[in-house]
Amino acid sequence: MSGSRLYFDYNATTPIDPEVLEVMTAVARDDFGNPSSSHCFGRSAAALVEKARLQVARLIHAAADEICFTAGGTESDNLALKGVVLPLLLRGEKPHIIVSAVEHPAILAAALFLEQAGATVTRLPVAGDGTLKPEQVAAAIRDETVLVSLMLANNETGVVFPLAEISAITKSRGVLLHTDAVQALGKLPIDVSRLGVDLLSLSGHKIYAPKGVGALWIRPGVRLEPLLHGGGQESGLRSGTENSVGIVALGRACELMAENMATEGERVQRLRDQLESDLDRALEHQLVFHGQRQSRVPNTISLSVPYVDGEALLTHLDLENIAVSAGSACSSGEHQGSPVLRAMGVSSDLAQGALRISLGRWTTAAEIDALRDKFITIVRRLWAISPLYNKNR
Ligand code: PLP
Repeated sequence: MSGSRLYFDYNATTPIDPEVLEVMTAVARDDFGNPSSSHCFGRSAAALVEKARLQVARLIHAAADEICFTAGGTESDNLALKGVVLPLLLRGEKPHIIVSAVEHPAILAAALFLEQAGATVTRLPVAGDGTLKPEQVAAAIRDETVLVSLMLANNETGVVFPLAEISAITKSRGVLLHTDAVQALGKLPIDVSRLGVDLLSLSGHKIYAPKGVGALWIRPGVRLEPLLHGGGQESGLRSGTENSVGIVALGRACELMAENMATEGERVQRLRDQLESDLDRALEHQLVFHGQRQSRVPNTISLSVPYVDGEALLTHLDLENIAVSAGSACSSGEHQGSPVLRAMGVSSDLAQGALRISLGRWTTAAEIDALRDKFITIVRRLWAISPLYNKNR
């Protein structure tokens, strides 16, 4: 897909599928009308947007009119949290919301903003394997709780939260449940009714559509305050001329995903599992895999290499034209390692040696072999010059 460069960072973003690119290009060229215009150019653009709405809805077993298009996962997450909580704050209430400590920054920062604006926030801890128990949610709900927001799959470890069990609790307590499904869409079958959630965020660029388009699914009857006020597009929930090129791309990407997800998931999982066991064996069982024994999406590996800095390993792999991710390590310059792994109780040493490898539609067995061989060589080389490694041998 990308010449001699090898890409193993599909959780960060995916390339655009050529079939998606084809429909995008056609819309950009031929259907440039404003979907709100009543003439024939507008009507054909509007029809394409509505077709895409249906394609997105089908992938999550929802109805088309429950989909609100946004500019991506971050906006969908913000719309869910602020859309529920801001009107209550404006009425002088003091709502309480619950999130987990390992949510994406789009949730954590939105929750912090709401806290500063007068809401109270509970951040649920996770266990060492990245899991969260439904009982934790039950115990944290109070009379003032209005919303629980928990991701379906974690972006770093791939660990899946038991949303269906959690929704039984939130429903019985009259609390809304939002899930950030950005990393789960296309990797797990999603049925919003079975999950029992009220709001669900998704993003195009994790499923082979372009960046800058996403959606929020909203259960009928759930009322949200818009973030963007203006011309009243998207049923008044998201003003601004629709990104019709992006929306059509998202729709086609969802359609392709619905067709390919099962076979793609099995293929990728086989490659992922083989790579994990090959690396583990070759490096004498010294690697630490995070969340490995838990229910997780099929494409993700989160591991730590003891006595090695994840950034150094990433750089050595990058010099070989191999792209992996060190998670969100050192984003604040504190060199404490990934906040997700730290929240799982992983020591700062191991969190600093963490790496995320994420596979996808165009990952081949030959690429996995190349990654495995380079990875093993580089780790052995870094261990050979590590005083700590040699002292602890
Ligand atoms: N939520 C999760 C779990 C993510 O992994 C991401 C992106 O990495 C987002 C939200 C943000 O999505 P976007 O990049 O479309 O704003």
